[in-house]
Order: sequence, then C-alpha cells, then structure tokens
Amino acid sequence: MKRPREAGEVCSYDFEMPDAFEKEMLERFVSGRDVPCPGCGYSLRDLRTDRCPECGDELVLRVNLAEQKQGLFIASVIGLSVGLGFNSTVLIWTGVVRIFGGYHLGLKEVSPPLISTVVLGGCLWVLLLRRRWFRQRRVLFKVGLVASAWAASALSAVMFFLVV
Ligand SMILES: [Zn+2]
Repeated sequence: MKRPREAGEVCSYDFEMPDAFEKEMLERFVSGRDVPCPGCGYSLRDLRTDRCPECGDELVLRVNLAEQKQGLFIASVIGLSVGLGFNSTVLIWTGVVRIFGGYHLGLKEVSPPLISTVVLGGCLWVLLLRRRWFRQRRVLFKVGLVASAWAASALSAVMFFLVV
C-alpha cells in the first residue's frame, strides 16, 4: 500500500516501491508498445508478468541516462585504430625510406601493411557509420566485436613482422 503523500512531497516511494506497484508499472509500460527484452531482444508487448517469456530473465522498470554507455563501442574503435595507426605508419615509413634511399622494400614487404590499412580502415569506417546498429547489439556480441577488433590489429602486426 502506498502511504498518503505529504504536502510538498514529490515522490513518496523512492526507496520503498512495493513489488506489486513495480509490476503494475512494468505492465503498463509494455502495454501496446514494442519494447525489446534487454537480454534477448524478444518483444515484450502486452506482457503480463515480470519475466521475459523468451529467455526467462526477470524484468524491472528503471530510469536510465539519456546517453548510453559507450565503453564497448570506444574499445572497438580503439582496437581497430591501433592496427590502422601501426600499418599506416609503416606505409609512410616505407615511402620515406624509398624517397631518401636506404634499402628498397618490395611488394612482398609492402602488401601486408597496405592490405591491413585498407581492411582495418574500412572496418573502422563502417563501425563509425553503424554506431546505432552497434548500440542495439547484445553485450556478448559487442564484447566479441571488441575482441575481434583487437585481434585484427594484433594479427596485422604479426603478419607484418613475419614478412619483414
Ligand atoms: Zn528475454
């Protein structure tokens, strides 16, 4: 039961919101609205319980910040940027060596950093354009992308050092 609101009081159930009230608010929130389950993406439209029928996880209604956390997105961008920076630096250095003499690097040596620069640069470009798509993925998928980005950068460096 909700206690009566006192004069000037804005919200009387900040930390003691009863379960039944929370469930009612959740039901009203998803009523007639296509809200995806944060766990599995299943539509919770007109749900009458506080559990997702698809993944079975318990659901609660929360207040969120308008700006979502972007740690994993930034980690992916940095992961790709590290490899892109490394390979483009190698390419510039290759050009400098070529212009100012020293030893001549052949196609075999130039190919790995050139391919890596194009591939990593392309991935980074797509990722930056698909920011919204990234935000809507599941956490596990995002973590996988972060790992892939860093792995791609590491692999490009390994490829370079194997050839040179
Ligand atoms: Zn679910």
